[in-house]
Amino acid sequence: MIKGQLLYEGKAKALYTTSDKDQLWVEYKDQATAGNGERKETIAGKGQLNNQITSTVFEYLLSEGIPSHFVKKLSDTEQVIKKVDMFSLEVVVRNVTAGSFSRRLGVEEGTQLDFPVVEFYLKEDELNDPFINEDHIKVLKLATDSEVSELKEKALEVNGALKKLFDSIGITLIDFKLEFGKDSEGAILLADEISPDTCRLWEKNTNNRLDKDVFRQQTGDIVPVYQEVLNRLTPSHAR
Ligand code: ADP
Ligand code: UDP
Repeated sequence: MIKGQLLYEGKAKALYTTSDKDQLWVEYKDQATAGNGERKETIAGKGQLNNQITSTVFEYLLSEGIPSHFVKKLSDTEQVIKKVDMFSLEVVVRNVTAGSFSRRLGVEEGTQLDFPVVEFYLKEDELNDPFINEDHIKVLKLATDSEVSELKEKALEVNGALKKLFDSIGITLIDFKLEFGKDSEGAILLADEISPDTCRLWEKNTNNRLDKDVFRQQTGDIVPVYQEVLNRLTPSHAR
């Protein structure tokens, strides 16, 4: 496979075309951002950790019958993915309260929810990714009603599988963000990444944060924290 032109460079990844029009080459960058890019730092090793964690998680999801855009890991920091037409939506699933849910609704962080809550955000950096409802999605033609139902259903399926995975390695899955797109046949496919950048992961016994909140709240170095998540996911590779 040949790496082509830079198609898009985001906060955490760069996407390149390939010799196959339906596939992209992704490079995970050593950049961490908080506050929608307001704070930006280069953190050596972050890219390879997120690439390896995301690759492992997508492989696990496939083994659980949940396909994604992931094709293969090319190197420590690179993957091949299926190119999809992204929905301009972030789909968040919450099992336990934290972050914006707690701030907006005044519910103490760490409260177990009776059922997983699915939320939609408009993926638009300039507007700070606002919270939107299903009517907004429909009226703005971001997705149809049936697509919204499918996105929710798929997000809940991913939640079920991820909860089981993280539980088995001593981690509580608090919440996470997913992105979806449509492939060349119009099928909805899970895309982007699933990593400690996009999930809240709390160590079961201690409630220690094993995710990007360590960077957001400036409570420590994320590299050993993300390494710990990778080690638990791939015990045979633990260094
Ligand atoms: P951001 O754009 O939020 O700064 P990233 O740096 O992670 O985020 O950039 C990755 C970009 O690639 C995102 O805009 C994401 O929506 C997009 N993307 C993820 N998976 C795919 C895919 N399979 N096909 C096309 N675009 C994708
Ligand atoms: N999230 C993300 N990207 C975003 C916004 C949120 O990956 O642009 C993830 C975040 O890491 C957390 C979940 O989505 O796991 C819910 O985030 P929340 O709405 O609480 O926002 P925050 O308070 O983290 O800004």
